[in-house]
Order: sequence, then structure tokens, then C-alpha cells
Amino acid sequence: MKIKELFNNKPVISLEIFPPKPEAPIDTVLDTIDALADLKPGFISVTYGAGGSSKAHTVKIADIIKNKYQIEALAHLTCINSTKAEIEDTLEQLRMSNIENILALRGDIPFGESFSPSDNSHYRYAEDLITHIKASDSFCVGAACYPEGHIECSDLISDLKHLKQKAECGADFLITQLFFDNNYFYSFLEKLDILGVSLPVSAGIMPVINKKQIERITGLCGATLPVKFKRILDRYGDNSEALKEAGIAYATEQIIDLLSSGADGIHLYTMNRPEVARNIVSHISNIRSSFNGSESPGI
Ligand code: FAD
Repeated sequence: MKIKELFNNKPVISLEIFPPKPEAPIDTVLDTIDALADLKPGFISVTYGAGGSSKAHTVKIADIIKNKYQIEALAHLTCINSTKAEIEDTLEQLRMSNIENILALRGDIPFGESFSPSDNSHYRYAEDLITHIKASDSFCVGAACYPEGHIECSDLISDLKHLKQKAECGADFLITQLFFDNNYFYSFLEKLDILGVSLPVSAGIMPVINKKQIERITGLCGATLPVKFKRILDRYGDNSEALKEAGIAYATEQIIDLLSSGADGIHLYTMNRPEVARNIVSHISNIRSSFNGSESPGI
């Protein structure tokens, strides 16, 4: 099923996992999938090369999610370091696995490298990848978006204009970068409305369970840490169990506020910690079943 169709029955609750490092066997992630499948998410997305994880495993893991667990899989795909022939090869593998959904991304430009594609065998932006996929295929395509603006872009409005181009190139839905202050998300939705971008937007939420990890991630993506959130990090940063408890409570509060405000979807960055996802899900089970008068699709 195409993920855009899932949004006909909102909210869609989805989960993100990452593949193991290239040197690790794929089996190390199977228990995670098993535990997450139990939560009956609308879809599970699998990152591509993010944080040094293996690109080669993404299609295989998406295949397992889709064909073994019968859960919709969203395969992330970055294009900045790939030729069009390499992307075509990956698209063919996805077709063979019956994967219908791709999150089309540019990817981060590696540190210290300036990127200037010299010929048209490469891509410059995610919109080029979206155009490529949509030209020849019936894949449902998602795109990344940034409520606080993408870190490389000088201002939010320019970034939003670039996002609009991704929508015009055929993106079917959007997933946001993580954020810790819902007001950025609400203000972002208003701006999309003004710009005439009417795609479903899933809110990316990351429960914080590790101080160093969150400092590294927010350093890379530029997400603002609200005072309330910083207090949690300062007070419980060195106490992993207390931080986990507080991080789960913070994410749950964010999610309840987003669902109450009518968010199209919640995309939980699970960091391959199914027990954390399970804990959050258990806190919203009644809220979830209140949608549509019955159990909503996913979680
Ligand atoms: P783009 O949409 O191409 O934007 C990149 C920058 O270029 C932005 O600053 C934008 O404003 C600018 N831009 C876009 N179009 C134009 C234009 N026509 N002219 C001038 N400037 C333009 N990374 C991974 O490596 N693997 C993953 O699996 C992964 N998953 C992700 C999932 C989500 C939900 C999100 C939010 C991010 C993910 N990322 C992943 C990170 C992502 O690759 C980076 O944020 C990357 O730097 C930008 O990717 P993009 O697809 O948003 O790029």
C-alpha cells in the first residue's frame, strides 16, 4: 500500500529504525523489528547510510518489514553520493522486493567536501531524485522537511520555497526533522498553508535517552533545545534510567499535544530501542483508539 493512502485515515503513527553498521550482520536488527512489529505501526521506515549505518542493508531490511511482517516499509534513499545508474540499481531492488514507498533525500554532504556535480550523471538536491523516481515509476515518495529550517539554508523562507519545489516535483507526503518545541511545528504548518503546500506532514519525534547522542544530533541538525528540555538534560544527563524516564515523558507530552492539535502523523525516531517506543505507545493507546471511533491504523 502506498503511504499517502494511509493518511486518509489519520493520524498515522510510524516508526524509524536504522540498519546495523556495515561490518555487523543484518540479524542484529531482526529482534528490533520483531518487537516493533508488535506495536502495529502504520509503517516502519529504514534509514540509508545515516550515522554510518550500512546502505546495503536498507533494502533487505525494508523487504523483511514488508514481506515477512506485512507492514508497510518506507525505504530511505539518499542521492548526493550516487550516480543515476546506482540509484536505478537500488530502485530495481526495491521493485523486486515489492517496496512501494521511498523517502527521497539528498543526504548530508560529507564534512570537508564541497560538492559540485560536473555532469548530469549526479544529483544536486532531493528534488532531482524525486523527479527521477516520479518520471519512471509508481513509487509513493516522501520528502524531508525542517520546521526550524534546514541547517545549510540561510533563512526559513528560502528553505520553504525549496520544499515547495519538492512538492511540485511529486512528493506525496512529508516527514519532519526532530523538534522539541511543538510551536515550531505549528508555525511551520501555517507557512506551508500560506505557500499552498497541502501534503500530509508527519511530525518527527525523538525520545531522548542519551545526553551525548542528543547533543551530537542537535549539533548536526540545529534543532532548538527548549529551556524545559535543557533542565532535564542538565539534571538527569548522567543518570541513564532517570533520563530515559524523563525523555519518554517529554516525548509523550509532545505527542499528546500534537495529536490533540490534529497532526497528520507522528514519526517516532526509535533509535532501535523498541522498549522506549513501546513505553510511549502504551501512554497513548486510549488517545489513539479515540480516533475514528475505533482503533486507528497503526499503533
Ligand atoms: P534537500 O531537500 O535537497 O535540501 C538540502 C538543502 O538544499 C536545504 O538547505 C535546501 O534549502 C537547499 N535546496 C534545496 N533545493 C534547492 C535549490 N533548488 N536551490 C538552492 N538550494 C536548494 N540522511 C541520511 O543520510 N540517511 C537517511 O536515511 C536520512 N533520513 C532522514 C529522514 C528525515 C525525516 C529527515 C528530516 C532527514 C533525514 N536525513 C537522512 C538527513 C538528510 O539527508 C539531511 O538533512 C540533508 O542535509 C538534506 O536532505 P534533504 O533531502 O532535505 O535535501
